Amino acid sequence: MIKRLSGDQLDEAKQIFSYHFNDITQRAAKAAREVGREPSEITLLAATKTVDPERINFAMGHGVPLMGENRVQEFLEKADALAIGPERIHFIGHLQTNKVKYLIGRVSCIQSVDNLKLAGEIARLSSKAGITTDVLAEINIGSEKSKSGVEPENAEELVREMAKLDGISVKGLMTIPPICDKNDEISYFFARMQKLFIDIRGKRIDNISMEILSMGMSGDFEEAIRHGATMIRIGTALFGKRTY
Ligand SMILES: *Cc1c(COP(=O)(O)O)cnc(C)c1O
Repeated sequence: MIKRLSGDQLDEAKQIFSYHFNDITQRAAKAAREVGREPSEITLLAATKTVDPERINFAMGHGVPLMGENRVQEFLEKADALAIGPERIHFIGHLQTNKVKYLIGRVSCIQSVDNLKLAGEIARLSSKAGITTDVLAEINIGSEKSKSGVEPENAEELVREMAKLDGISVKGLMTIPPICDKNDEISYFFARMQKLFIDIRGKRIDNISMEILSMGMSGDFEEAIRHGATMIRIGTALFGKRTY
């Protein structure tokens, strides 16, 4: 169950959020300008796992355009209490094919699509509902055994196959890079993502628009922006440390 905050705790959480939100916005803008990009090219997504609906609604009413949930069950527990529509909700966590049915019509984009079977189910159920769901191909940029995501060398083929499906619209790529101690290590993975993104975009594949490169979290979003991220996914730097 999602922990609900008392009135005092919620007031404090709102102040913490506002402070963090301004800080992140300024740091993101600075990183963009450093590489000659416009701050408006970067969209902030609040990663809201473990965050209660009250705080999410406050954030969404105070400048955060998008939210992303990781777990189907947790999302469904919160969904009715959210004050925003599906167009502002993404799914960003590992997703099993048999759970897709709970998300269709409730989220506008599924960022974590790493195989054709999953894409096919999203497409099938979206078509049945008469809607189109946006998807991103999740890339396992560090080729880590423990991580989901398609291998970089198979990304183009996955995108090409997904482009043939009715009911989904391929919008770009997403990644969670390996945990790195040093800045130049993380830069290496972001640079590889940027290259992959530009390569696939350059192929001008029919029926896809490569416009979203979703990478960068609390500890590394500035570096991600310097490497072309168009969407950053921020949790702890917005809401504080997660309680579980
Ligand atoms: C939790 C999460 C984030 C945000 O991580 P923080 O380090 O808390 O900013 C981003 N993306 C995904 C997929 C996540 O699960």
